[in-house]
Amino acid sequence: MTSKGASIHIPTSLPLDIAARFIRGEKSWIETQLQKLPDEPLKRQWLTGDKLWFLGSLYTLELIQENIATSINFTSSGITLSGRLTSLSTTLRHKKLCEWYKIQATNYLTARSEYLSVRTGLHPSSITIKTYNARWGSCNIEGAIQYNWKIIQAPKEIIDYLIIHELSHLKHHNHSKDFWQCVENFYPNFKDAQYWLKSHSSKLDI
Ligand SMILES: [Zn+2]
Repeated sequence: MTSKGASIHIPTSLPLDIAARFIRGEKSWIETQLQKLPDEPLKRQWLTGDKLWFLGSLYTLELIQENIATSINFTSSGITLSGRLTSLSTTLRHKKLCEWYKIQATNYLTARSEYLSVRTGLHPSSITIKTYNARWGSCNIEGAIQYNWKIIQAPKEIIDYLIIHELSHLKHHNHSKDFWQCVENFYPNFKDAQYWLKSHSSKLDI
């Protein structure tokens, strides 16, 4: 199923008008629940017109045939992938875009982590950008932080939450009450960010 919807299951003995009345009465609750459902991941072929998330905004991809090594750039209207298009299969275009995202993520996450380290006084021993399928980041006992580059698709405030979360692990290597207190001190709306991440994870799969 590609669109959001709701279905109601009723006993055959129940008159239909009672079910209809129930739906009318609960309309706003049903709509709220439907809005909470994560959007389907974008189906992409990595061709002109495809939509790409970057720092919470949606950009349109444009493919440009040029006799050059593949290069990916921002323009005023979107993101361009230029190069010898005939030699770029769908898998290769996807791979090139993932490599580009990883570079952008490395630059952004490193700089932002340094900024937030100064503000929080929490300094990791190293920062590495990796590919994960089921997690956004980690912090080991030696204080080395690793981030999933896919987070670069999320809005800046959500990335800040992830960074604060991992920096807080430098003080508390667990998810104890003290840990969450530390997160909250630096990022009061952490619950909203957690909810955003939970409900948008499928959208950020690439
Ligand atoms: Zn954690």
